[in-house]
Amino acid sequence: MELIFEKSRPGRIGVVFPEKDVPVTCVLETKYKRNATAELPSVSEPEVVRHFTKLSKMNFGVDSNFYPLGSCTMKYNPKFTEKIAQIEDFTALHPLSPQLVRGSMLTQGALEIISNLEGALCEITGMDAFTTQPMAGAHGELAGVMLIAAYHKQKGNNKKCILIPDSGHGTNPASAAIAGYIVKSIPSDAKGVMDLNKFKHALNDDVAGVMLTCPNTLGIFNPHIKEITDLTHSSGGLMYYDGANLNAILGKVRPGDLGFDVVHINLHKTFATPHGGGGPGAGPVGVKKELIPFLPVPRVIKRNDGTFALDFEEELSIGYISPFYGNFGVMLKAYAYILVLGKQGLIDVSENAVLNANYLKYYLSKYYDVPYGENCLHEFVLSGEKQAKKGVHAIDIAKALIDKGIHPPTVYFPLIVKEAMMIEPTETESKETLDEFISVMAEISRLAEETPEIFKTFPKTTPVGRLDEVKAARDMNISG
Ligand SMILES: *Cc1c(COP(=O)(O)O)cnc(C)c1O
Repeated sequence: MELIFEKSRPGRIGVVFPEKDVPVTCVLETKYKRNATAELPSVSEPEVVRHFTKLSKMNFGVDSNFYPLGSCTMKYNPKFTEKIAQIEDFTALHPLSPQLVRGSMLTQGALEIISNLEGALCEITGMDAFTTQPMAGAHGELAGVMLIAAYHKQKGNNKKCILIPDSGHGTNPASAAIAGYIVKSIPSDAKGVMDLNKFKHALNDDVAGVMLTCPNTLGIFNPHIKEITDLTHSSGGLMYYDGANLNAILGKVRPGDLGFDVVHINLHKTFATPHGGGGPGAGPVGVKKELIPFLPVPRVIKRNDGTFALDFEEELSIGYISPFYGNFGVMLKAYAYILVLGKQGLIDVSENAVLNANYLKYYLSKYYDVPYGENCLHEFVLSGEKQAKKGVHAIDIAKALIDKGIHPPTVYFPLIVKEAMMIEPTETESKETLDEFISVMAEISRLAEETPEIFKTFPKTTPVGRLDEVKAARDMNISG
């Protein structure tokens, strides 16, 4: 059997491919073998089933109920993508398997899928190349800002700061700071988008890049976006697009066409991987061609003979940012989802996400204040200020929703809205579910008006009831 290995780069951490053939069989030494049968607990099937059913009932998820958690896209993800990610040919694939063995395909299929997914994401976002390595949105942001830094370094630019509007996701300033930049926050204007004049005032030679979420966390698309990207470019800066939630713009507008140079996408928000519980996720990063040389290694490349390989030899690369090639199971789900939905399906996703959000916003505005936005895109932010005057705060409304079997929306974010409740219904919810949510929210507003004192007793339906947050914070025992 002749094996072909790509050369790895000496001195870099990460995958080093063996020089010799991989062993065909693996013999376990006697000292590692058991002498006696392992002592495993013995329980009956009903006990096991009851145990896991009980655990599953303690969990709240999109599989149990409506989950309008703004900015997090808790949408129902189709089960067929899970089945695909469970195919043994994929799950049994070892990340150190050789890339190409003559006469056998081994990892070729997996590399082709990564390559095809990168191509699909390029088409969806209007970028020139993608890396699928980052394992979360924030990880993608960090990788993206490192790319911006590598680009400026190579050009000999000494730019020290990144501009981010005050409605930005908290991970934006954190990523920029970890990558070594000074973060300048730009206030929002009365319409809820980055204040154009204040932005112009802050833009100077020192600005390495601008990180924008568009539509932003208020669900509002910035009408000055083209002017912002043009101005940034003319002062030598780069534009970063936080595309964690792409379901507002899929098939409608592409960040690359708006002038963005770097974009990250959360596959676990928009592309069929359940989101929550801390992962696993994936935050692929796309770039325009000037930034390709800096992308993390290894890169998946297509050889002239049509086979695929991992390339570790990029001189200017920022290096490794994850072990191996990212979360492959998440990539499989995203790729399957994109193929099954197709172009029209993806357009339907964004149209339904926007329609559902506007439907809710219209009816809920009868009961709650809506500080920003006549029309929203995939999400919107209500303010509970009216209810707060009666002593019922966003947190109390959230607790009341729990008793109604609905997961609370994101509360107290973005920070620029008082008593914020950030709602994202997503494209996968039916009109019946939305109507039910509207009637529950209407009832809560009526209760706030008539019997505000009862809110302190919510939630009643959870095993522990209302948490004493002051006590929880004070008595927090951080031992071990
Ligand atoms: C969720 C989110 C992120 C961060 O993504 P993680 O995968 O949670 O790290 C960044 N920006 C926006 C707008 C988000 O909604």
